[in-house]
Amino acid sequence: MSAADESLATRKAPFDVARIREDFPILKRLVHGKPLVYLDNSASTQKPQAVIDAMARFYADGYSNVHRGVYLLSEEATRSFEEARDKVRAFLGARETREIVFVRGTTEAINLVAHTWGRRHVGEGDEVLVSGLEHHSNIVPWQLLCEEKGGRLRVLPIDDRGELMLDRLDELLTPRTRILAVAHISNALGTVNPIRRIVEAAHRRGVKVLVDGAQAVAHHAVDVRDLGCDFYAFSGHKVYGPTGVGVLYGRAELLEAMPPYQGGGDMIRSVSFEKTTFGEIPHKFEAGTPDIGGAVVLGRAIDYVTAIGLEAIAAHETDLLARATEAIRDLPGVRLIGTAREKASVLSFVIQGIHAHDIGTVLDADGIAVRAGHLCAQPVMERFGIPATVRASFGMYNTREEIEAFARAVRKVLEMFR
Ligand code: PMP
Repeated sequence: MSAADESLATRKAPFDVARIREDFPILKRLVHGKPLVYLDNSASTQKPQAVIDAMARFYADGYSNVHRGVYLLSEEATRSFEEARDKVRAFLGARETREIVFVRGTTEAINLVAHTWGRRHVGEGDEVLVSGLEHHSNIVPWQLLCEEKGGRLRVLPIDDRGELMLDRLDELLTPRTRILAVAHISNALGTVNPIRRIVEAAHRRGVKVLVDGAQAVAHHAVDVRDLGCDFYAFSGHKVYGPTGVGVLYGRAELLEAMPPYQGGGDMIRSVSFEKTTFGEIPHKFEAGTPDIGGAVVLGRAIDYVTAIGLEAIAAHETDLLARATEAIRDLPGVRLIGTAREKASVLSFVIQGIHAHDIGTVLDADGIAVRAGHLCAQPVMERFGIPATVRASFGMYNTREEIEAFARAVRKVLEMFR
């Protein structure tokens, strides 16, 4: 066991941000000579030493391809890979391990469902319902599907706070609606959507629900059975794990009935030139050599997050969000974008007369990393009549002092441009 693993295993203390920060080597970095203040956690999270060590250890000690060898190393790698799948299952509260498909990330998970379930169930005149706060990756795959099949993409709008207009839901769930695809938490606005209620409304009409959990899993405990959704997608890199690996959860009976996504090795039962039969789920959807190391290390990231506790993380981030909101909301010219009653970890804003990129650049000079742009959510920008926002997004290792530094830097922007 490495020192990082031991530090994790012995962690009994209540949430201790100073202690958590010690686990993240990158937080010791200087940026432009200033301590790094990393507030772009919605884009991607930094990695704790336990995750970095697990990656090195897997390649140094336990690596081979999976599901093929009769030799010890391959058996070990296969066991590690499948154990990681079971960790994901527990993390999401799924009933069965075979309901967990490893993919590249949220984007691939959504494309998989659109290509397989979607192509089979969405036909001419059928409808796919998305919401007005989706990331492009939960819009474009459905748009492509609708274009191909002659379907229609419909949109559940958002109000001025950035909350879904749920009173429109019943009218938008028509007899032609086949699937509703919605984010658990909005990456641009931070809105936490009432997924259970949405799923109930959809299921009453026989409509399937895919939840884009990219922004949720690092901030909220998720239980797919409690939510009742049919599909749930997330990315490893947003939950303190590696890039290149993510997860699609799908209810077993749906996955079983779906055609494969890609063809290749590892997803077949038998192949001949006349006919190929496919393997069982989830392998049917995992053609080719997967990101074995990524999956194994994602399991380690889940251990890390679980040991700290998502409830404690959520409470900490809620405090940071409240402080950051309080600190900038009344500054002259500042307009918050997204003021939903239920928000998580995201503070988007604009300042009248100052371009978002200029704000981002001034903050960067002080070592503060925020996102500036359309946040891969151009329809949200259009809804609020702006080209771009600045987004500060929080993770478990951010501190109140960092929020103060952020607020000071925003005030500096105002001084510089006024
Ligand atoms: N959905 C949401 C809500 C996101 O925030 C993101 C990442 N910004 C994605 C989907 C896409 O995730 P990935 O790029 O990891 O596939």
